Amino acid sequence: MAYAAGLHVPIDGTFELTARCNLRCKMCYVRLTKPQADAVQCEKTAKEWIDMAGQALEAGTLYLLLTGGEPLLHPQFAEIYEAVAQMGFVITIYTNATLVDEKIEALFRRYPPMHVCVTLYGARPETYARVCGRADGFAQTVAGLERLRRVNTRLELRATLIRDNADELDEIRALALRYSPAFSINPEVHRAFPGVCSDVDACRLPPSRVMRLYEDNRRFMEALPPQDTEPVQRVYDLREKRTGFELEPTVLDCLAAKASYSISWDGRMVACNTFTHPFTEPFREGFHSAWERLPGLFAKMRHPEKCSTCPLGIDRACPNCPPKLFAETGSFDETSDYICGLARARREQMHRKEAKQSEAKLSEAGVEKV
Ligand code: SF4
Ligand code: SF4
Repeated sequence: MAYAAGLHVPIDGTFELTARCNLRCKMCYVRLTKPQADAVQCEKTAKEWIDMAGQALEAGTLYLLLTGGEPLLHPQFAEIYEAVAQMGFVITIYTNATLVDEKIEALFRRYPPMHVCVTLYGARPETYARVCGRADGFAQTVAGLERLRRVNTRLELRATLIRDNADELDEIRALALRYSPAFSINPEVHRAFPGVCSDVDACRLPPSRVMRLYEDNRRFMEALPPQDTEPVQRVYDLREKRTGFELEPTVLDCLAAKASYSISWDGRMVACNTFTHPFTEPFREGFHSAWERLPGLFAKMRHPEKCSTCPLGIDRACPNCPPKLFAETGSFDETSDYICGLARARREQMHRKEAKQSEAKLSEAGVEKV
């Protein structure tokens, strides 16, 4: 990835096939209703996506994520999938699994995706009713997982946690581990894109709880026998690696717009799918031009002034980045209480961990605590 970034090759792409979803999760940042999506009439056809995939392939895309909304809800999903599989992309699918029927199972068995990532929202129908607005979503998810179990793919389960389901983490994890040793949680929920039907502020968890959940889940997963788990969150010290993160546009502390991009359901190329803008227009100007112009759109973007001297940013405890700040505040250069709260909670957790580690070292060396 670093090598690709050095050459500005778009090796990693995302196609967001639709913004529609058959669930109605309270905290979703992207979902539009069908009437909303129909009103803008911008969903791209199979022919358009397949043509775009051909251009992306030529430009160097190898990894392709198909996501949504719920990507299986695109009326021509099977046609798009078969075409991109035949082109040879290494494919990942993000799905809620509820629409994985016999036909999708057969398609995936014929052309196995490298990786399928299923998000869980609960471990009971009542929880799906509360979080996703549909109790039957639970049975459909489990049925979809049973089908995915028969596909030769790396299946990963994730749980998005909010106030309504965080207490159910043990049960959700037990359900997930029946299908895959790869399980992770996402308790950090950001505000939605403009116009999206969602209730984030009322349902997301406070930063201290977010960090406790990460810690509890990490401990649980680390305590499992090695054959029952696999490391899904690999931790690197990025300062010691050649990552390509330091390349232009430096305001993005990752590989977005350097080696990766996302194309939204309505045809915008953005640096990653957390952005709504700035964007280029690959369906109008062609993939090559859209990709080449993308980094230049960040030339004037700056981090908030306050972050330049903030110890939490310097410590890398802070999860901020421009699209997250924009989602929270409506501006790329304003800080947000939620994100600063996450950074403080993470730093406190890091301190507690460091204190425990140095206590353990002292006790190993036979030094008693005074
Ligand atoms: S959310 Fe931020 S850190 Fe993540 S890929 Fe997008 S720009 Fe990079
Ligand atoms: S904690 Fe707040 S002020 Fe500090 S770096 Fe993060 S966003 Fe900026």
